[in-house]
Amino acid sequence: MGAAIEATGSPASSIGIVGGGQLAWMLAEAAQRRGIALHVQTPSDHDPAAAIASSVVTADVRDVAATRQLSERCTAISFENEWLDLDGLAALEADGVRFVPGLNALRPLVCKRSQRELEQRLNLPAPRWFPLDQLVRLPVAASLVPSGTPSAAASQSQGAAVTPQLPEGFAYPLMAKAATGGYDGKGTAVLKSAADLETLLARVDPSGWIVEEFVAFEQELALVAARDAFGEVVCLPLVQTHQHQQVCDWVLAPVESSHALRQAARNMAASLLTSLNYVGVLSIEFFYGPKGLMINELAPRTHNSGHYSIEACDLSQFDLQLLCVSDQALSEPELVHPGALMVNLLGFEERPTEDPEADYPQQRQALCDLPDAHLHWYGKKGSSLGRKLGHVTLLLHESDPKSRRDEAMQRLEQVRQIWPLPPGASNA
Ligand code: ADP
Repeated sequence: MGAAIEATGSPASSIGIVGGGQLAWMLAEAAQRRGIALHVQTPSDHDPAAAIASSVVTADVRDVAATRQLSERCTAISFENEWLDLDGLAALEADGVRFVPGLNALRPLVCKRSQRELEQRLNLPAPRWFPLDQLVRLPVAASLVPSGTPSAAASQSQGAAVTPQLPEGFAYPLMAKAATGGYDGKGTAVLKSAADLETLLARVDPSGWIVEEFVAFEQELALVAARDAFGEVVCLPLVQTHQHQQVCDWVLAPVESSHALRQAARNMAASLLTSLNYVGVLSIEFFYGPKGLMINELAPRTHNSGHYSIEACDLSQFDLQLLCVSDQALSEPELVHPGALMVNLLGFEERPTEDPEADYPQQRQALCDLPDAHLHWYGKKGSSLGRKLGHVTLLLHESDPKSRRDEAMQRLEQVRQIWPLPPGASNA
């Protein structure tokens, strides 16, 4: 690992991260191992990264004045999530604050609508989509209301959409998504009928939503890629992700895949990173099925699907991010074990906590006692259904892909015996 750092000189000694959740916490651990000071901006001193950061600016992540304060402590700033006030931060960038990735590279990625526009511009495969406000602007179903009648005049004067018409070529079911602010399926809604669409229209501002075709995928895959300041693109192995009620449940690395499939995923990452002149880690969620690969979502940061790399690779996704932020050259990360299964520990009950470090002691001990298991407990205050409280990575030994999958499913069963899946309703 040290070799990559030595490649182009000494690393930046001080990095700032806007955000203090589990991604910032794991980045802070990697920074500690590399002797890099990491300062965080996060709303609560109880957030996971606050305890091990070199210092904390206690403020909301969209508080630009606080980010200016953070910038005084470090040579470059990166982000834990994409919920940013880019216009506010632009003033800091103009004053010489260095953001990695740069704000222009981030701009198309902080909103699901602009992500879809970017993919279209680059001719990358993605679900067909339309903006929800386009639907509302469609001519009201004039055929339903004879022209010249009082009700036609009333609906026109109120601009009311009587029966929303789908654009040409779209049919139910559809997937509606909030353009910003969604995560773990919050901010998505499956539309099975016109009635569901009307319910959605009654409850949301259509200008902030997009609607996509519902993809009949066979698997969900993910790729964590990174581009350094010299333009070199590297990728972690392609993985399979499995969701429970739209929240990532487990990740199998590497996924059994053809060389062509891996190359296709990698080429998409290189196109995106290079066209945006993006420096840093970018994660891509894919659907895979009869139509091949389609991009589901882009995340301009480290990602849940890359957590396994901490133990299973010679460079983790957090190392890659630190190298990028400190202007170091990247080398291709390699698996140092045949594979890994990462299982998220999702909250299975509603439970407030006073002392998160002391939560679930028996389950945590039992997970640690599993062979080749590495537990990461985020120390969050309180459990709720589906909340990511930690994860466990189990190193796999089988080199044959089919045997490795069987091994992974057996290991998953061991985890399930200790840590059940959350019950309950969907997040939609
Ligand atoms: P979030 O940003 O909340 O994680 P995603 O866009 O990743 O939302 O969607 C969450 C999950 O919903 C996906 O992992 C996938 O299982 C399902 N999903 C999302 N978009 C579609 C789609 N167009 N068709 C079918 N399933 C989808």
